[in-house]
Amino acid sequence: MAYDGRLGRTVYSESSIDNFMDSHDRLQLARLRGLIRDVANFPKHGIIFKDITPLLADAAGFALATEYMTQPFRHLEVDLVVAVESRGFIFGAAIAKNLSTGFVPVRKAGRLPAATDGEEYVLEYGTNRVEIHRDSIRRGDKVLLVDDVLATGGTIAASARLIQRLEGELIGATFLLELAYLNGRSQVGNTPVQSVLRYEH
Ligand code: AMP
Repeated sequence: MAYDGRLGRTVYSESSIDNFMDSHDRLQLARLRGLIRDVANFPKHGIIFKDITPLLADAAGFALATEYMTQPFRHLEVDLVVAVESRGFIFGAAIAKNLSTGFVPVRKAGRLPAATDGEEYVLEYGTNRVEIHRDSIRRGDKVLLVDDVLATGGTIAASARLIQRLEGELIGATFLLELAYLNGRSQVGNTPVQSVLRYEH
């Protein structure tokens, strides 16, 4: 656990300064880390895929993960949770429930039925386009972005651009895992980024 000056509160995560984390947090985070399965060469050769399905299947692990993802934003004003298809939806819906906010999906091209705005982005393993309903965010809405993994930051940067285009205010982004060596958080400027589990290599 550590005090985060930008968020103005104590946060619980491996992205906090280690020395401030108490032994209870360390144990809990180690337990969560043990529920992530590395799958080599999926979906392409050379990628180590972080499989979150063992964590999702564990009732205590899933509850703890969503609580840690929510906690730094619990006392901030948040109007909407925006989450990215598809694994982001799992955490985003739980976090929206925790924060009593609405939920807005960012989806892959062609999936949303009404008028959309879209952005192209580069993935760690390919390229993609994400879209959002034009009427899903009102000017000035305070938005929390959610996804499962922060890798290169391309997905979250594209989502942030969509929020900006709709004149929402991005107040933070929260992830279960961060592949810190890819420096994805640099893609969202000064936006506070929370990640529960940090991978340095
Ligand atoms: P990026 O745009 O590079 O930050 O990639 C983030 C998105 O790709 C997230 O939606 C993740 O679900 C997925 N992703 C990227 N790399 C991995 C990985 N090594 N393991 C699992 N998911 C990943």
